[in-house]
Amino acid sequence: MQVLILNSGSSSLKFQLFSMPEETILCSGIIERIGANDAIFKYKTDKTTIESESQILNHKAGLKLVAQHLLDEIVGVIKLPEDIAIVGHRVVHGGIHFSDTTEITKDVKEKIKELSSLAPLHNPANLEGILVAEAIFPKAKQVAVFDTAFHQSIPEVAYKYAIPNEFLTKHHIRLYGFHGTSHKYVSEKAIEFLGKKESKIITIHLGNGCSMTAVKNGKSIDHSLGFSPVGGLIMGTRSGDIDPSIIFHLKDKLGYNLKDINTLLNKQSGMLGLTGYNDLRDIQTMAAKGNEDCILALQMNAYRIKKYIGAYAAVLNGLDAIVFTAGIGENSKYMRELICEDLDFFGIDLDIDKNNADLRTVRAINKDNAKTKILVIPTNEELEIAKQSVNLIKN
Ligand code: AMP
Repeated sequence: MQVLILNSGSSSLKFQLFSMPEETILCSGIIERIGANDAIFKYKTDKTTIESESQILNHKAGLKLVAQHLLDEIVGVIKLPEDIAIVGHRVVHGGIHFSDTTEITKDVKEKIKELSSLAPLHNPANLEGILVAEAIFPKAKQVAVFDTAFHQSIPEVAYKYAIPNEFLTKHHIRLYGFHGTSHKYVSEKAIEFLGKKESKIITIHLGNGCSMTAVKNGKSIDHSLGFSPVGGLIMGTRSGDIDPSIIFHLKDKLGYNLKDINTLLNKQSGMLGLTGYNDLRDIQTMAAKGNEDCILALQMNAYRIKKYIGAYAAVLNGLDAIVFTAGIGENSKYMRELICEDLDFFGIDLDIDKNNADLRTVRAINKDNAKTKILVIPTNEELEIAKQSVNLIKN
């Protein structure tokens, strides 16, 4: 069965075609700068790599280009559009409506649209991707996998904010959580590795966006991103936790308007704001050359993560494993070392040689006799979406 996975952003479209249940990737790629005259199209199979620049005015034109390549006699991987049985869509915000993967109906689309006010950068683009895929692959089942779904198990004591009750009951202002597909995927791999479902795990997703989840017996019980994906850890361009009164000060005393503040906290803060760079590789290189802003920013980043490890070890009342994943978590031995330093109180004891080994597999990097496992687990959100979509349609 061929399953196409789509991840639509406001100006991008990532795609991956799987043959299931073998989990073979038939092709993958991305379109960036949709809407521009010089949009970039990348398409890769095991035989071909294509990269081109052209005008791609909207998602529809983008997905048509993808379909053309999928069906092409030379570079294609399928014969007919009907060969695609399922299109699985990553949808960022499922609000309180969706605690699981769902087949897309008119009602589901309405709800995704309604939730756009909570995720204005993501849900409209996700919906656009769904509408376009329905038009291009009308025979395929369309399935939505929500980033927020894994976190629907978080209890009220953790998801409710201490503001008047009506903001929760009438306006649905609460912690929702994000990166759920990744946290679910790596926590399940960790449970497999530990060999027991009854477990206390902290998953640490460190990419351009960063977040942590406390996972008890396979369920998310707390998470560092809240109402929107800007709180918690220090990210590439997002601030993470700040005192809310800074926002009033910026407005009342420094003359910023709310749109500017939104841009400041989402796009100009985090590692970019602290150092001038948002790619962690550049920051590490500059830190090694003695750049003090970069050295401090890396320390601040690790310090914030340590604080959340402490908090989540407390709410879990114990700790079997911490899991590093995503671009930074999987690749930066430097950050892993900085984070694990002086955490022996929690049984966290890093083996430097294991940490330094460049491997792309699920692995433990703690010392053999350490109480808490330190795992590095490559995330695979697309495969998780494909698996969930197939499970839903088959059952
Ligand atoms: P993601 O959002 O998961 O694709 O992760 C993107 C982040 O991973 C960027 O900040 C990259 O700098 C970082 N990253 C990727 N490879 C490495 C590496 N080898 N060392 C350090 N950071 C890396």
